[in-house]
Amino acid sequence: MEKKSRVLIVGGTGYIGRRLVRASLAQGHPTFVVMRPEIGLDVDKLQMLLSFKAQGARLLEASLDDHAGLVAAVKQVDVVISAMSGSFNRSHNLKRQHKLVEVIKEAGNVKRFLPSEFGMDPSRMAHALEPGRVTFDEKMEVRRAIEEANIPHTYISANCFAAIFCPNLCQMRTLLPPKEKVRVYGDGNVKVILVDEDDVATYTIKSIDDPRTLNKTIYLRPKDNILSQNEVITKWETLSGKVLEKIHIPAEEFLASMKDMDFAHQVGVGHFYHMFYEGCLTNFDIGEGGEEATLLYPEVVYTRMDDYMKQYL
Ligand code: NDP
Repeated sequence: MEKKSRVLIVGGTGYIGRRLVRASLAQGHPTFVVMRPEIGLDVDKLQMLLSFKAQGARLLEASLDDHAGLVAAVKQVDVVISAMSGSFNRSHNLKRQHKLVEVIKEAGNVKRFLPSEFGMDPSRMAHALEPGRVTFDEKMEVRRAIEEANIPHTYISANCFAAIFCPNLCQMRTLLPPKEKVRVYGDGNVKVILVDEDDVATYTIKSIDDPRTLNKTIYLRPKDNILSQNEVITKWETLSGKVLEKIHIPAEEFLASMKDMDFAHQVGVGHFYHMFYEGCLTNFDIGEGGEEATLLYPEVVYTRMDDYMKQYL
């Protein structure tokens, strides 16, 4: 049997990172997780790291600020996956991945690098609105650095994480289902794509040793989870047995709401606009340079959104 690649996960205690660690272990990869000294007194992070160790992962002490240490860590593996946080809070953590690119280039042994993407395809977002475009711009800068350094790579376009977009019926500023009223973006008929976060991790790990995904973007498009906001609302109404009042928000009004918000929410409004008004997740066919995950890995039984929402009843 082909040997499974050794995987290093950077950002392993994060929201998607912890799922990548679990999926890597579940799929039998020797799994390494960066343990940053900067976590300091964050006892929750430390305990999560120790729980990964108990499940068979190896913790590697390394920091993005310690070049030599990071090179030594990267030299122990075949695949590096970054799950560094996005740019919602002006932290620009995505930019810190340039360090990682330098290190991977110097180490010279990495067969595949997956930078932190896991959302909309940034290469299709050159027109994105300020200030939310920071996410796409920073992800594209990292892509350019990877490609200039000739690092073998895969980009994961995971669309909407279910917990953040589905049970709340696509409402901003809440994760729970609305009780009486729901704000509907435009006519509510634009299709988005919702993916269980554990499925995101499963498909991601499936792709890392697959020659079909080399230097490509993998789009996660589970057919039954390509839904309009109206369809999401109807699913919840059917499950809960309660009909909600619908308040339709025209695009101009939605965009105007940005002006009194803080930076993070302005970023959010921009992203929601592109997804729910413009249809940026579904208004294109996957062309050359892309593959669709459920077609590559039909054996994965992905979570349907009705089942996902049942947890919230
Ligand atoms: P998190 O906010 O959970 O953070 C991930 C990790 O980033 C942290 O655990 C930490 O790693 C690392 N990190 C944070 N700050 C620093 C720092 N200063 N230096 C080094 N490492 C740092 O990230 P998410 O899981 O929310 O986001 C990961 C990716 O997913 C992003 O690209 C984001 O854009 C995308 N995303 C997609 C969504 C979707 O719906 N499709 C929704 C949300 C995010 P450590 O474990 O070492 O402490």
